[in-house]
This record gives sequence, C-alpha cells and structure tokens, in this order.
Amino acid sequence: MAKKRVTQATKAEIEAIRKLFLEHYPDSVTELNYRNLYELLVSVMLSAQCTDKRVNIITPALFEKYPDPAALARADLDEVKALIRTCSFFNNKAKNLIAMAQMVMEHYDGEIPLDEKELVKLPGVGQKTAHVVMIEYTGANLMAVDTHVFRVAHRLGLSKAPTVQGTEEDLVRKFQTDLHRLHQAMVLFGRYICKAVKPECDRCFLTEYCKTKESFKAR
Ligand code: SF4
Repeated sequence: MAKKRVTQATKAEIEAIRKLFLEHYPDSVTELNYRNLYELLVSVMLSAQCTDKRVNIITPALFEKYPDPAALARADLDEVKALIRTCSFFNNKAKNLIAMAQMVMEHYDGEIPLDEKELVKLPGVGQKTAHVVMIEYTGANLMAVDTHVFRVAHRLGLSKAPTVQGTEEDLVRKFQTDLHRLHQAMVLFGRYICKAVKPECDRCFLTEYCKTKESFKAR
C-alpha cells in the first residue's frame, strides 16, 4: 500500500504553532543537571542515545571524581567506563570524554570553547551536541534536532526531510527566530505529550495543526 503523504504546514499554521509552543513553554531549559560549561558539555555528550534521567544519575559521581577538564584529561579509561557504564555506548563515550578533555587542555588552556565552530573540533562533539550546548548556555538562535524534535516536526508538517540535517534546515527556514526556545519546547513536547509510541493527543494543544493524529486515533 502506498505510504500516506503528510501535508506540510502553511505559513499561518507555522506562526500559530510557534505562538503555542512559546506560550506553553515560555522559559524551558534542559533537564540535564549541570553547574558550569564543562559539566553541561559532558552531560550533553553522555545524553546521545541515552535519557537525561539516566545521565543525571551518572554525573554526580563522575563530576566528583573529575571536576574539571584537567582531571578528566588525566583519567584512567577503565575508571571512566566504570562510572558511566549504565549509559549506552559507554565505551566510546568514555574514550571521547577523555580525548575531549585532553584537547581542551592542550588547545584551549583548559577552558571549554564557547563557540560552535570550536566545539565541533572536540572529539565526540558533533553539530547537534555543539548546538545544544550553545542553545542552553548562551541562548543562541540555533536549532538542534534530536529524536523528539524530529518526530514532532514531521507530525506537525514542519518538515518532510528524511534526515536530521534536512529537518534542522527546514525548522531554521520556517521559524527563523526564537530557535533556542522552540528547540527546548519541542524536546519537552515530544518527551511528555507527543510521545513516539502512544502520543497523548487528548491533552495536546496542537491538535488542530497535527497532520498525523488521525492515524493514532485508529489504533
Ligand atoms: S495530536 Fe497527537 S500526534 Fe498530533 S502533535 Fe498532538 S500529540 Fe502529537
């Protein structure tokens, strides 16, 4: 059977969606616990393919043992692995965390660079991680597409791009401003209302603009 095409939101719908997101999530911030830029970066790196809840369980002991890039740069790989082993992909993440800290010590005088172009040069830091850090720490007008933002964007007809990169470009082009706030709103909306398996459509404030709700009703 041919796959049903999802229609795209009109300009008026995009503006209405923006307004409702900003009204419902006026001052949203990440649910990751952190006290400084170093802790934020480490937490965001750990959160790839892992829940914020899990990361928040792991990081207190990690930050107690390695409170700054200098300590993490000297860390023993097996000890870092042991501390983050309940996180998905902990082997690679442990290697990347130590390599990131070593590069920060060698090239940035021990200070995490607060610049998107510099952040992505660090081991284990891709564009999405850099954007999330900049959004959270500086309120930069950037979009980052995680699994929640990707799903929500497609269900609302804000993008039909099959890739994360394409979805990010669509959201940037369509919203243009308030991207950091819209990012945080879409993450929380996707995490708690427009869930992957059983979206809570009966308490959704965007039902009018949803392009896919009919398929959920039928289940
Ligand atoms: S109506 Fe349901 S599927 Fe559509 S955006 Fe709202 S929660 Fe998501």
